[in-house]
Amino acid sequence: MIVSGAFTGKRYAVLGLARSGLSTVETLLASGAHVSAWDNREEARMLVEAKEHPLAQLADPLTIDLSGYDGVVVSPGVPINRHPIADAARAVGVPLIGDIELFAQARPSLPPHRVVAITGTNGKSTTTALVHHLCKTAAIPVRMGGNIGLPVLGQEPLRAGGVYVLELSSYQIDLTHSLCADIAALINLSPDHLDRYNGFAGYMASKARLFGMQRATQHAVFGCGDAHTLNVARDCAAERGSEFVHIVDPSTLSGQSAWPSLQGPHNLQNAAIAVQIAELLGLGETQWRPALASFKGLSHRMELVGTHGGVLFVNDSKATNPASTAPALAAYPRIHWIVGGLPKGDDLDECLPYIGHVAAAYTIGEAGPRFAQLLEPLVPVSRSEMLCDAVRQAMSAARPGEVVMLSPACASFDQFRDFEARGDAFRDIVAALVAENAPHSGSIDG
Ligand code: ADP
Repeated sequence: MIVSGAFTGKRYAVLGLARSGLSTVETLLASGAHVSAWDNREEARMLVEAKEHPLAQLADPLTIDLSGYDGVVVSPGVPINRHPIADAARAVGVPLIGDIELFAQARPSLPPHRVVAITGTNGKSTTTALVHHLCKTAAIPVRMGGNIGLPVLGQEPLRAGGVYVLELSSYQIDLTHSLCADIAALINLSPDHLDRYNGFAGYMASKARLFGMQRATQHAVFGCGDAHTLNVARDCAAERGSEFVHIVDPSTLSGQSAWPSLQGPHNLQNAAIAVQIAELLGLGETQWRPALASFKGLSHRMELVGTHGGVLFVNDSKATNPASTAPALAAYPRIHWIVGGLPKGDDLDECLPYIGHVAAAYTIGEAGPRFAQLLEPLVPVSRSEMLCDAVRQAMSAARPGEVVMLSPACASFDQFRDFEARGDAFRDIVAALVAENAPHSGSIDG
């Protein structure tokens, strides 16, 4: 874990004790800070109580006098646009911060290192994991953290010359004031999380703050796929000079067919941004190119589950709306598409430009009847209802060279705990059906 003299003797209130909150408490206590911690859930509070640390107390920050505190550390899940903690902290002039800001404050006490910070509406986790992989294969000491689900403060500090790769949501940027990332990247921008912002403009301004914290000698990397991202890039170039800004055109990056876990136009964009970051970190093409081919991808994001009888099985359970399913459909020419779940809207409009890639559709879940009605005039449809039936039907219909893909364009909560449970179920069903169909030759061949 990261421990820093920057926190010694200081006083913090920590609100929200999920993964990043707990790791914040541990770092602060190990650094000799006084900590009041709180979570509305009793189970979470008990984890802090169990520490029985002389500098730790359990207290709801809304009920204590916060004056004199050095920071109120809130989890990114706390909606600071409407939660009373924001006014309470402001009233006594105490900064409202997150674990990324604490990491920023700890940086001077870490061995010399660089920070890469990656944000955007879509593709953050993939790009972050890819930059981490490119560094790792080039033998650069590297850690990844942030929104990807690994609290950065919980990581072992790197020796000199290391790189911390951080995935940042807009909520995390809102709680960060001094990160000064050596390289910051904005992949794309489309309307999202509008309940937490003053319209789309507020959401864009939140993302743009990442670059406002940098020095002009550092680097800002932008995707070029939408006008909003390009506007932020243009503003940055006007303020900081054109050497500060790198706009990435994915069409200049060749060889995608050799990167099995980076298929589809969206992954070409992610790869191009990761390559730009790698080059700014000093990697050459002989280092990054082979690493694009060996990248394994993340679970549930166009994850290659295996091949059987020449058919590829792809788990894209993370695609919970039609906009994120669209690039997955664009990625392969002949797809047996398993679609449906708890719908987020009434149409599949964003997917329709790629309907020519769909050999057949298999509808499941609550959205099944509506999606079947939409798709039947366009492609053969099986009203499968259940995931296991859909996989069985798709597997028997698919011919060698074709793809069976779960890319549901829906939330999972009608039939599964979350998108991970749905993707795990898909993987298990594929494995079971493969074993059933090939009792002697055994398992998946991919
Ligand atoms: P995030 O961390 O921003 O949610 P992920 O890398 O986890 O992004 O990808 C989530 C889903 O978003 C993927 O399954 C894919 O369908 C879609 N996606 C990934 N990258 C992009 C991109 N560059 N542009 C548009 N959609 C993307």
